[in-house]
Amino acid sequence: MTEDERRSTLARNLDVVRGRIKAACAAHGRDPQEVTIVAISKTFPASDVRILADLGLRHMGENRHPEAGEKARQCADLDLTWHFVGQLQRNKAGAVARYADIVESVDRPALVTALSRAAQSADRRLGVCVQVDLDPPDPAAPGRSRGGAPVAAIGDLADQIAASPGLELLGVMAVAPLGQDPRGPFEALAAAHDTITAAYPQARMRSAGMSADFEAAIAAGATHLRLGSVLLGHREQLK
Ligand SMILES: *Cc1c(COP(=O)(O)O)cnc(C)c1O
Repeated sequence: MTEDERRSTLARNLDVVRGRIKAACAAHGRDPQEVTIVAISKTFPASDVRILADLGLRHMGENRHPEAGEKARQCADLDLTWHFVGQLQRNKAGAVARYADIVESVDRPALVTALSRAAQSADRRLGVCVQVDLDPPDPAAPGRSRGGAPVAAIGDLADQIAASPGLELLGVMAVAPLGQDPRGPFEALAAAHDTITAAYPQARMRSAGMSADFEAAIAAGATHLRLGSVLLGHREQLK
């Protein structure tokens, strides 16, 4: 595919997505301006990020280090906002804090401590979301791990983040459980988020919704949609 062909494919995909966002917002009495697209560029090249930026997107997301850092570096001239949305090991926090603007996937106290330390030593201020686990543990299916803190733990995590130098508590993030109607889980996220904004009114970010379920997320008050395949096409399966 030539650069021009790729550009028209992405432009067409983005038009369709914007139309669907507009329609979902209209159906739920929301203003499309309240909904930000975070383009999840994992497995796709930096050239695609450049096209999306040129088409007007400012927020990009990645779920893996070092791929995330590589792309952020290749696009450093574009002044984009980079979201890290994947599960993060504590020993990678230092590296991620140097290029990510927002880490959406914070789900445990040790990670907060590591990110705070890393942000301070990089002299950066890092936006942080508490990732909420919407998928209660199933004893019949151990090992499931999409990340996230249990709802019962998110208040303490929010307090810890809010009190951590170098970090700014922005809100919450969640991934809907696989193979279920996402509406119930997204409503559960909304309720969990309300308990956090009661204490931290600035923490309004609600990152929910992916390619398969973003309209349901809009219905449940999402402010950020993390969209990969609906914009960029099918990915090669990650190992
Ligand atoms: C890959 C990914 C997305 C985007 O997924 P699509 O279904 O391609 O839109 C969103 N959020 C997270 C955490 C991801 O890892």
